[in-house]
Amino acid sequence: MNIVFTRRQEVAPHVWEYFFNPERLMWFTPGQYAHFRFPFHIDDPHGKQHRTFTLTSMPNEPELRFIVRLDEPVSVYKRPLSELKPGDRMLMDDPLGDAVLPRLATRLLFVAQGIAIASYLSILKELKARCARLDLAQELALGLTWRNPVTLIWARRDADNSLENLIPAEIPNLKRVDIVYPARIDLTKLRHHVTKETLVYLSGSQSFVETLGTQLESSGTLRERIIYDYYEGYPDL
Ligand SMILES: Cc1cc2nc3c(=O)[nH]c(=O)nc-3n(C[C@H](O)[C@H](O)[C@H](O)COP(=O)(O)OP(=O)(O)OC[C@H]3O[C@@H](n4cnc5c(N)ncnc54)[C@H](O)[C@@H]3O)c2cc1C
Repeated sequence: MNIVFTRRQEVAPHVWEYFFNPERLMWFTPGQYAHFRFPFHIDDPHGKQHRTFTLTSMPNEPELRFIVRLDEPVSVYKRPLSELKPGDRMLMDDPLGDAVLPRLATRLLFVAQGIAIASYLSILKELKARCARLDLAQELALGLTWRNPVTLIWARRDADNSLENLIPAEIPNLKRVDIVYPARIDLTKLRHHVTKETLVYLSGSQSFVETLGTQLESSGTLRERIIYDYYEGYPDL
């Protein structure tokens, strides 16, 4: 699908939020990502013509959004991305990914490293919307409540602090745990937020996600209760 670049804004040092007008409204589930390409060839050393970005807008919003880190020297893909002018066209494939809200309400633990907080921005908006659609009595009558405990653990460097402004406010039952470098996240910090019912989402670099996932599984969390979401191409975030 064609998408037309409209604008971008710096949301933290070296992190930009991009805005596009899609040629038509595209349905996706909050939390999904898509592959984005240019309408011309890029001379990528690995031949890769796309990069993957998580959609941070909601499906019913007219503009599509994602956030991206643009550290110098930028890659051959990110050079034209950083030079986009309003009106320039890009191509977006169909959204993908199963790091989305579960069908049935349960306890949720979201763990993010740095800008991988992007994975949860639209999910948290969706959670807030679900709580607003039904009042607590209705939810209980239906045997489900989206007001189960929700924990967001966000490990990051100081420089990423202003991404905070992108996190939706006033989500019922949301507990925040902030771990700012040099403090580090580890199993001890995770474990007391995890019960048998908790669905754990891990989002960050491959080593971050795999290390925490393996530790959780070794300490008894079932693999099917963990959703792995790698941001490949970032050795660290
Ligand atoms: C599901 C998912 C969601 C993502 N969401 C976001 C997002 O919302 N925002 C965001 O900024 N990023 C996101 N990413 C990461 C993004 O797609 C890019 O991979 C990342 O931004 C790095 O791109 P780059 O062009 O800077 O680096 P690249 O040019 O891709 O290279 C980065 C590093 O990886 C190495 N490398 C790359 N490809 C290969 C290969 N095939 N073999 C060996 N080495 C390789 C390079 O040498 C370099 O060291 C997501 C990735 C995934 C998989």
